Amino acid sequence: MLFARIVSGATVNKSTSFSSDYATARLRFRHAANCLGWTLEPHSIGCLGPNGEDLTIDVAWSENGSPERTLVISSGVHGVEGFFGSAVQLAMLEQWATRGAPSVRCVFLHGLNPYGFSWLRRFDENNVDPNRNFLLEGEQYQGAPVGYAELNGLLNPRRPPSRWNPFFIKALLAIARHGMPALRQSIAAGQYEFPQGLFFGGAGPTQMQQLLHRHLARWLRGSRSVVHLDFHTGLGRSSACKLLIDYPLTTSARAHLTDWFGADSIEACDSDGISYDARGGLGRWCVSRRLASEYLFACAEFGTFGPIKVLAGLRAENHAHHWGAPGSASTVHLKQELKELFCPSDERWRLNVLNQSLRLVSQAVDGLNQS
Ligand SMILES: [Zn+2]
Repeated sequence: MLFARIVSGATVNKSTSFSSDYATARLRFRHAANCLGWTLEPHSIGCLGPNGEDLTIDVAWSENGSPERTLVISSGVHGVEGFFGSAVQLAMLEQWATRGAPSVRCVFLHGLNPYGFSWLRRFDENNVDPNRNFLLEGEQYQGAPVGYAELNGLLNPRRPPSRWNPFFIKALLAIARHGMPALRQSIAAGQYEFPQGLFFGGAGPTQMQQLLHRHLARWLRGSRSVVHLDFHTGLGRSSACKLLIDYPLTTSARAHLTDWFGADSIEACDSDGISYDARGGLGRWCVSRRLASEYLFACAEFGTFGPIKVLAGLRAENHAHHWGAPGSASTVHLKQELKELFCPSDERWRLNVLNQSLRLVSQAVDGLNQS
């Protein structure tokens, strides 16, 4: 297939699609989608950004291409990780503007957590981790993993930040005591008991979930096959990519993912690797809605820094957000540090993850074309 080969060959040698802030990223995304003649639909979340700008989730889709085969690309579920996901979306749109768009329908969900994106947080306007919020019908927004309550004081101190911060020492002691896999599971699997804490899954569906509940079926109407890549950063070896699957795979879904992306790229929830069993993931929720005969969802996760460093940054920002002075030099500094942890400014990292992402997207398009 000549067209697929053209798409597969696309790479970039500059990381100019990374934006400096949410407002710029949003503007560039909308402009690029407009240039391709895509339909745009902004959804305000009723909050303002640091410069008083309206915060929106922006959805754009192509009107041409086979509606039976749909590629979904989403960014910014984890707010600050949107700098990377948005760069991938923009790079794709810009490439397609010059090389021609793929022959499948595309639906791009930009900045799904615009509050976290603009205010440099992983969490949303209610401190909810959106990727712990997508519980299925009948599941309760209650409970915490074994060990979280014990670690709560270390993770979520309830006092103003001070200079003396022995977090690293205490974290190393906790690793020595519990082991890294158990600790990771306790901390990051998702909790519903500590509303100001890290990895809080909320008390009910977030705006993001409600929006997808209302509109996703419409955006995907007529789809037989869907491939949905949801871009994330902060887990795994620096710039290494894994496609994380948080739902049980059918035999044919596993075969398609393996054929299209390579067996080594996939990490299913029943295998050992960098991930852990989290509650309330977006992928399992999307797949459970049966919006297409085959809905393949993968969280495309790219590593940045080591797990303790990332956790320390999340903890420090969350602590400052709730207990520090808003807008103070130290709070601003910690938020900038969080951005660096999830979207390193290093040019080699940026180019590397961008080109791997472009390859993933073209593999998804090629796969859809075969389906
Ligand atoms: Zn993430």
